Amino acid sequence: MELNTLTIHELQEQLKSGQTTALQVAEAVYNRIGSVEERVHSYIRLMKEEALAAASKADEDIKKGFIKPLTGIPVALKDIVCTKGIPTTCGSHILHNFVPPYDATAVEKLREAGAVFVGKANMDEFAMGSSTETSFFGVTRNPWDLERIPGGSSGGSAAAVAADECIASIGSDTGGSIRQPAALCGVVGLKPTYGRVSRFGLIAFASSLDQIGPFTKDVEDCAIMLNVLAGYDPRESTSVPAEVPDYRQFLGRDITGWKIGIPREYFIEGIDPEVAAAVKKAITVIEKCGGRCVDISLPHTEYCLAVYYIIAPAEASSNLARYDGVKYGLRTAEARDLLDMYKKSRTQGFGMEVKRRIMIGTYALSSGYYDAYYKKASQVRALIRNDFAAAFKQCDIILTPTTPTPAFKIGEKVDDPLQMYLSDLFTISSNLAGIPGMSVPCGFTAAGLPLGIQFLAGHFEEGKLIQIASAYEKNASIEKRRPNL
Ligand code: GLN
Repeated sequence: MELNTLTIHELQEQLKSGQTTALQVAEAVYNRIGSVEERVHSYIRLMKEEALAAASKADEDIKKGFIKPLTGIPVALKDIVCTKGIPTTCGSHILHNFVPPYDATAVEKLREAGAVFVGKANMDEFAMGSSTETSFFGVTRNPWDLERIPGGSSGGSAAAVAADECIASIGSDTGGSIRQPAALCGVVGLKPTYGRVSRFGLIAFASSLDQIGPFTKDVEDCAIMLNVLAGYDPRESTSVPAEVPDYRQFLGRDITGWKIGIPREYFIEGIDPEVAAAVKKAITVIEKCGGRCVDISLPHTEYCLAVYYIIAPAEASSNLARYDGVKYGLRTAEARDLLDMYKKSRTQGFGMEVKRRIMIGTYALSSGYYDAYYKKASQVRALIRNDFAAAFKQCDIILTPTTPTPAFKIGEKVDDPLQMYLSDLFTISSNLAGIPGMSVPCGFTAAGLPLGIQFLAGHFEEGKLIQIASAYEKNASIEKRRPNL
């Protein structure tokens, strides 16, 4: 087995026993990058020099018996988390030259846990998208079919794990940007509860929805990554000072007697028949594990997409007001006066999709329209949250497809925003409600494209997600395949 194809827990064993070194692992990862990156394009920037130095340092630590949860493990970072001294672009021209003076808390935690940073992963510009086609730095391709999208917005983070160009990665999820690409690339992805992982140093898209979370090759690795990322951060006002359990303790635990809610509103017309069949099969696996499926209703589901596409652009229009060419980022070379400088810098710096969101958001927040749009959307958001609260009185976990379809072709939806927005039909509701969600691979289509199922749990019940995902993973015996690159 090549080292870059192994999981975190497998590598930990090998590193601890001295069977392999962190430097060998890092080299295996960069060799793989050397042979496939040109076709997949998971990364905006590689950090090879830093990574090899970090790996050598990890080897010294291991020799001294000083081993932390991620010592020597190559991890990719979505280019939306600030990295001190390393350019952080958010996939945008406007930040193409931005070098943060500090690390995001998530980056700091990973570093402290011993991770070796492979590079900054590609993404849709400012995390707005479902296909990683809107990046200023070019598209990322799905490792399972290079003609297809890897999902988005964290498409680079997902593709890098699927293509074995890193061992694990982090992304951000505002409406599905971890779970959707995880499903389409055949890896595990988890969006934590809002407040579980610090957003300090995460470049803001929609601050009331954004969360950082892991992409991994299996459920155990997901628990390991979440152990590192989760926790209170005094520098981030919405991070919650709740206790962080050891998520590994939930692995392999029995789920007998658990009630699994199947929301009838999620099994609608238009969902791909292969997706529907895969979810049906997953339900039988869960039942074999001792789970009991119950029919539940989330009555306001039909409003989720509309509510999201008011609230997320509204927050984005406010968050992105800071990019004005003054302190950092792109500044136009041809300004007549100050106002002209703002206008031209923003015109040249932002792509089409980002401009669309800024316009929608500005409109929704403008006086005279605020009550009809933003305020109304916030009220409906409360109803959506209540739907979940009521549902979790009847069940322990909710099970849904992660996405309505497998990965679509590059270019297929990029000019049709409404079709693109529908990719997140099943993932957006949990961001609106603030609850955690996880996508786990559940098989392949006849054409060999990976599919995922989604588990949702109540606030701060990531442990339950790990528990059911681990039971599912063990019993589903999904064929272990690797993309043929
Ligand atoms: N695809 C959704 C959007 O475009 C969600 C993106 C995300 O989660 N960052 O807004």
